[in-house]
Amino acid sequence: MIYLELIIIFLLGLSFGSFANVCSLRLPLDKSILFNSHCPSCASSIKPYDNIPLISYLLLKGVSRCCKKKISLQYPVIELVSALLLILIFLKLGIQFETIFLFAFLLCLLIIFVSDLKFFIIPNEITYSLVILGILSTIFDFNPFKTGVYESLIAGSFAFFTFFLISKLFLYIKKKEGLGFGDVKIIGAIGIWVGIESTLIVIIYSSFLGILLGSMMIMCRKIEKGDYLPYGCFIAASVFIVTYQTIWLNFNLFNFILESI
Ligand SMILES: [Zn+2]
Repeated sequence: MIYLELIIIFLLGLSFGSFANVCSLRLPLDKSILFNSHCPSCASSIKPYDNIPLISYLLLKGVSRCCKKKISLQYPVIELVSALLLILIFLKLGIQFETIFLFAFLLCLLIIFVSDLKFFIIPNEITYSLVILGILSTIFDFNPFKTGVYESLIAGSFAFFTFFLISKLFLYIKKKEGLGFGDVKIIGAIGIWVGIESTLIVIIYSSFLGILLGSMMIMCRKIEKGDYLPYGCFIAASVFIVTYQTIWLNFNLFNFILESI
């Protein structure tokens, strides 16, 4: 019986992954997420049977039916990641409201990761959805990180205003934008979800990842010094790590450091 449940959840995860693809590619360009899919190469409309998550990609062998162009690997990868996420959450939390909230949270971060990487934009629609869902999750006690209402408001405002100050300081000193307003808003939204401690850990991890990958890319001449990096991607990746550590491993960085001293 559990196998049947897992198959249904996997298919559900694939469909949400397909929706995440649509959001991450259309919202940054201010396109509607409701109209039918078109081929990005020749713009002819895609038939529903060629638009089945993962399966169509495999049947078409990664080549579009209309113009025989390669279909971006992003589609099946995001669909698969989304399906695996939903299965992992289901196996940990079972079927309950927390499962739905945690999946919505991580799906939004997946969308942010892709749209910031591709367009250097974090869509407002996703940020505001995260804020609203985050507040609802604490009010109704469905928050997967066990964050209470007051803590969530304090953590959210603290993260937002700290990043706002940093971005203004950077602009004032360097005379150019180092931290976009999208990054400022998203760290505030994440604060609402994960609480004070985990927000601090997300900031530490994302700064570390940014410095590490940034310097590696400068060394490999992939980017120039002073080029803009999609910081939203590092935030999203760090939230994934912190979520895994708190919900699956019960690991807390600060406790770990305190115990090691
Ligand atoms: Zn085409």
